[in-house]
Amino acid sequence: MGGREELRYKELVESLNDAVYTVNIQTLKFTSVNHAAEKLTGYTKEELLTMTVAQVIAPEFHQLVKQMIALKRKKGESTIYEIEVINKNERRIPIEISSVAISEKGVSVEILGVARDITERKMAERQRNVFISLITHEIKNPLTSVLMYLGILQKRLKNDASSLTYVGNISQQMLAMNQLMTDLLDVTQMRVGKFRVTKEPCDFNEVIAQAVKPFQVSRTINVTGNVAKPVKADKTRIGQVLVNLLSNAVKYSPKNKNIDITIQQDKRTITVGVQDFGQGITKSEQRHIFDPFYRINKSAKSRIKGHGLGLYICHEIIKQHKGKLWVESKKGESLPAGRQGSTFFFTLPVTK
Ligand code: ADP
Repeated sequence: MGGREELRYKELVESLNDAVYTVNIQTLKFTSVNHAAEKLTGYTKEELLTMTVAQVIAPEFHQLVKQMIALKRKKGESTIYEIEVINKNERRIPIEISSVAISEKGVSVEILGVARDITERKMAERQRNVFISLITHEIKNPLTSVLMYLGILQKRLKNDASSLTYVGNISQQMLAMNQLMTDLLDVTQMRVGKFRVTKEPCDFNEVIAQAVKPFQVSRTINVTGNVAKPVKADKTRIGQVLVNLLSNAVKYSPKNKNIDITIQQDKRTITVGVQDFGQGITKSEQRHIFDPFYRINKSAKSRIKGHGLGLYICHEIIKQHKGKLWVESKKGESLPAGRQGSTFFFTLPVTK
């Protein structure tokens, strides 16, 4: 770059609203910063050039930043992620970082990053979540009494078959709506960081037995293995995970009625598997099924009821227990019956 061009380029970077900086990939010290970086952090250019990235980033994000840098070192990929800066006045500012590694002779030497203040976006997201959570609350209350009255009507109409069918249909729709409201509430709580599990010692075998019970009416459910010791877990939330996995197993395996549950325990972890012999999930679909509102196959959407929040919530519940949730699945019409289908596994740590 010629002298004049370089100067113009520098002026351009200085005039940007986003913080632009470079850091040494070894020491993670800032090697250059623009004016917006000073404004964002509250430190002067001179101060920043003596500091490392870790000194301006909130401690809980250090690990993430390290991982991102390691990734760039290895693969050289550009990455975008959200973290929080702690400025000179110790105020937290949410930012979105996009960064790339700069290489010299094939070796990454520096990282070039752009950090954008996303305070307003975060505030708008929060307001939206609070709003949804208020609305869902307001809808759930009357819905509960509607469901109660429908229950009474069903009892009164026991000799009127056709009316009973109508009331039954209304109840089903109302129950689906109630489920959607419950899930939406969970999701909004998760988004504002208010979704918490309460772990207490519980009889895990009992939690499984309770969850399985309603499904045994229509399905053959084999449970193998058990847990020898009490487990510290939120039994309501773990029950919710099991019910969700079981109802998915039922929904997505209309033909084969078998569902196998396996429980394994070693010194450190309990692993639970819920296996169905249904339609299965391809590798590429498996990557998305834990995302909010994701549902496979549009045509199936109309037939099978759901809204794509169940697995997203299950994932968060298991994460809060410091466990893992994943799927292993085979899809393919050509596979022999009994070889197709999905197994959802989750683990829970065994506490001493
Ligand atoms: P929902 O079932 O309400 O759509 P989930 O979050 O529980 O939402 O699941 C997301 C998607 O993952 C489902 O729409 C379905 O396409 C797929 N899925 C979940 N469980 C299974 C399963 N056992 N077999 C096949 N597909 C499944």
